Amino acid sequence: MKKIDLHLSKVAKEITQDAIKFQDGTELPADMVIMLPVYKGHTMLTDSGIGDEMGFVPTGEDMRHLDYRNIFSAGDINAMTQPKLGHLAMMQADIACSALMKELTGKGEVLPYNPEIFCIMNMGGGEAGCIYSNIYFKPETGKDVVWHSGYNAYWKKFLDAYMLKGKGRIPPRWAEHLFKQVIIKLGFGKKGS
Ligand SMILES: Cc1cc2nc3c(=O)[nH]c(=O)nc-3n(C[C@H](O)[C@H](O)[C@H](O)COP(=O)(O)OP(=O)(O)OC[C@H]3O[C@@H](n4cnc5c(N)ncnc54)[C@H](O)[C@@H]3O)c2cc1C
Repeated sequence: MKKIDLHLSKVAKEITQDAIKFQDGTELPADMVIMLPVYKGHTMLTDSGIGDEMGFVPTGEDMRHLDYRNIFSAGDINAMTQPKLGHLAMMQADIACSALMKELTGKGEVLPYNPEIFCIMNMGGGEAGCIYSNIYFKPETGKDVVWHSGYNAYWKKFLDAYMLKGKGRIPPRWAEHLFKQVIIKLGFGKKGS
């Protein structure tokens, strides 16, 4: 439908200004190449023993290293972060801060970790899909909805402009919560709807 072809077993050899060349001698025209490297953490983390065998930092739900309690980890580098999402990175950063606050002041509680996938994906041509899903983390009770609409492309544009203007500032939590509820209601909150 979107005229996206899939080419399997291709090994990239060279990227030129307007093409990507493969080891089998073929090439494809490309204005912009997006390459995803093998998902591994920094070798410093594997070499030092701070990371696991893939270089990601193992923590508990308080974002503290399982063995080295003075090390906190949030974001893509945390071994728990699956999938790797900025939404989860920010959630984990809040939790790490709350754990640190409790440690330093003895006050407050460590925030709970309720991982979820929540993002708007541009699909081109003024279309976008908004995904809310936590079924991977809560197979029995989780929700799993996708709302596909032109409105989402507008929201994505708004969100990008808001974050760029605010130098990384995100909309307030109440707005996030409200938007989430709308997505769940529109998607009827059913598994896979
Ligand atoms: C194309 C794309 C689209 C995405 N879309 C979404 C989305 O819609 N929603 C969503 O939730 N997530 C999205 N993500 C994922 C999101 O960007 C990441 O999960 C998030 O940025 C992780 O944050 P982080 O702080 O853990 O790591 P990063 O943002 O990667 O920050 C790590 C920082 O460390 C720096 N660094 C690395 N090595 C060193 C070093 N040796 N010394 C000093 N600094 C170093 C890097 O330069 C970088 O600034 C997207 C990712 C990509 C690539």
